[in-house]
Amino acid sequence: MNKKVSKAPYLLSFGLIGIMVLSLISSVVLFKRLSSLEVSADRSELVFFMRQYQYELLRSNAAFAKAYSDSATPANSQTFNQWFDILWSRVEVIDAGAIGAMVIDDGLDVLSMKRSIYEIDALLNNGQKVSEATINKVYGIFDELIVATHRYQLARDNLDRENAISRQNQSLQTYRYLVGFIIGSFILGLAMVAYLLRNNSKLQQLRWNLETSVEKRTKELRDSNADLVKEIDDHKKTEIELKNSQRVAEEAREKVQYQANYDSLTKLANRNLFLDRFQSALHKAQQERSLVALLFIDLDRFKHINDTLGHSVGDELLKDASSRINMQLRSHDTAARFGGDEFAILLTDIQCLDDVDIVVQRILKTLATPFKLSGHDAFVSASIGVTSYPKDGVNSGTLLRKADSAMYKAKELGKNNYQYFTKQMDVEANQRHELEKALHTAVENNQFSLNFQPIIDAQNNSVIGAEALIRWQHEQMGYISPADFIPLAEEVGLIVDIGEWVLREACKQAVVWQQQSQLDKAMYVAVNMSSRQFQTTNAALLITNILNETGLAAKYLKIEITESLLMADDQNVMDQLTEIRRLGVSLAIDDFGTGYSSLSYLKKFPITTLKIDQSFIKDINIDVGDDELIKGIISMAKSLNLNVVAEGVESQLQVDFLLENNCSKMQGYYYSKPLAVDDFNQLVVKNTLNQLTVITASEPSILVH
Ligand code: C2E
Ligand code: CA
Ligand code: CA
Repeated sequence: MNKKVSKAPYLLSFGLIGIMVLSLISSVVLFKRLSSLEVSADRSELVFFMRQYQYELLRSNAAFAKAYSDSATPANSQTFNQWFDILWSRVEVIDAGAIGAMVIDDGLDVLSMKRSIYEIDALLNNGQKVSEATINKVYGIFDELIVATHRYQLARDNLDRENAISRQNQSLQTYRYLVGFIIGSFILGLAMVAYLLRNNSKLQQLRWNLETSVEKRTKELRDSNADLVKEIDDHKKTEIELKNSQRVAEEAREKVQYQANYDSLTKLANRNLFLDRFQSALHKAQQERSLVALLFIDLDRFKHINDTLGHSVGDELLKDASSRINMQLRSHDTAARFGGDEFAILLTDIQCLDDVDIVVQRILKTLATPFKLSGHDAFVSASIGVTSYPKDGVNSGTLLRKADSAMYKAKELGKNNYQYFTKQMDVEANQRHELEKALHTAVENNQFSLNFQPIIDAQNNSVIGAEALIRWQHEQMGYISPADFIPLAEEVGLIVDIGEWVLREACKQAVVWQQQSQLDKAMYVAVNMSSRQFQTTNAALLITNILNETGLAAKYLKIEITESLLMADDQNVMDQLTEIRRLGVSLAIDDFGTGYSSLSYLKKFPITTLKIDQSFIKDINIDVGDDELIKGIISMAKSLNLNVVAEGVESQLQVDFLLENNCSKMQGYYYSKPLAVDDFNQLVVKNTLNQLTVITASEPSILVH
């Protein structure tokens, strides 16, 4: 802030001083002038006139006296009239004009003089002669006039002087007071100015302080105002945000509520909502003594489609399947997705179970119709388990569990069908449950072992490899086939641990064989690996680690995978397979021909071997179509520079056929069943040591069948 000094007090002070000085000067001048005055001009003029007048009277009187002093003869009236006119004019002078008025005012008795003159005039007018008496009267008037003027003059003189002096004194006194007052005011003014000047700086300082504090306060106010505005803005913003978040919360709540009751993908009810409705339907059925049916649906081959065509296509399929199911239902029925490819359907107001048959058949039919998904034709079907209230149970838990068992039975019976629950199913479901428990224990307690099945080159009957096959001998349940427990292990995830164990044991065994010089050093070990091991863990890394750990050279390991793993067309899988090949490990496609592998997949992935599925081998010379298929596979594999191994070779006939068609590598009971290590060693060692000629002489029958 600029410090502004006000000039007003200075200007005011100087103005005040100026006025006082001027008034002082003018008072002094006036005083001087007044004190030099004695009598007023009017008065001196009057006295002067009276003197002149007196002098004129004296002169007229003298002339009159001269004219009439020796007038024994009465003067004629004419001459007398002249005198009389003079006298008359003298009186008139007094009576008229300003001075005359003053004289009359001062007490000269002009009236009595006039009266005397009128009397003389009257005498003259009457034509009377001018008598002595008249002349004396004129004398008398002159005398009277002279005496009166003189007297008046004297009186006037004295009176005026006294008056003038007293008035002058009065004026002087007044002016003295005035001057005193002026000087007093001057001094007071000076004192005030001095005081003002002295306080001015103080005032300026005060003003400065005041202005500073006002400015500061203003700034504070402005700032706080700005803060306030900001606060209001913030408040408004917060309010908007609050509203938004309320809206979001409301939406979220609705979403949560929706999610709590519906499946987001298919828009069907979820398990929660389904169970609610199931509960109330059972309650109602109980009161009305009516029927309620529960359908438990599982899509067949869904996993395969998901694996081969990808999850987004899988999702599309689920949506499409859901809407197809929904279209077969009445408005009061409820369809729900229980997760994955499992659905549950609640049919209420059922008159008899025949009605259920109709609905179930319609659902099977609609789901068996091919799905058009992103340019692919997908074929799925459904397996359905059915339970009903009150026949199979009175509560939802029991009915669901039993429907699940019935659905499993439908699967077992070849899929694409439906089964009503029977008591036998409960037994089987229990067994399955028991098996699952036992599998867990087996993994924990390492209850597995490995068998090896030789892979033969039929041209010279030499053992070129051994496929490791897992074995599980359960204490109570006895021998359990991998065909039974491997799918379960895949389903429950135990396959990862089991697979790792198999790979490690097989590699260890291979190293042992490599060290036994008497064995064919070129023999490799083939290990089955589940797709799940590639999809949920890094199989390539596992293989690398185990090769390092066991010291087995990569070229002695062959990994057997299934076609479905390739068909998922997953980059992660591709990377792992490439890495496995980079290590020098061979890759075989197991059960070739049962899946949907196309030539393009075989070219794309780094595969080294095809294992023709045993179902084709079994039908050699029985089914001409299969013969042609095998021939086709062999020639295709050769053209792609792939090895071919025929699985499940059980007869000489099959061996001959395969050899004729350029497939010399074989595996099957014809040569040997899978054997425990000792048996395997015995067989192979015995043959390689003692029957070299036999092998070279192509006598495969020497090998144990
Ligand atoms: P796979 O890989 O196709 O194995 C060949 C199966 O065919 C074996 O059954 C074997 O005993 C059987 N086999 C061999 N030669 C013949 C024959 O001439 N005639 C007949 N009828 N069968 C023959 P296995 O050992 O019961 O194994 C069944 C399946 O279980 C295997 O089929 C494989 O898919 C799976 N598996 C076995 N061991 C393992 C393992 O360690 N890991 C994984 N992931 N799967 C395994
Ligand atoms: Ca295999
Ligand atoms: Ca196989």
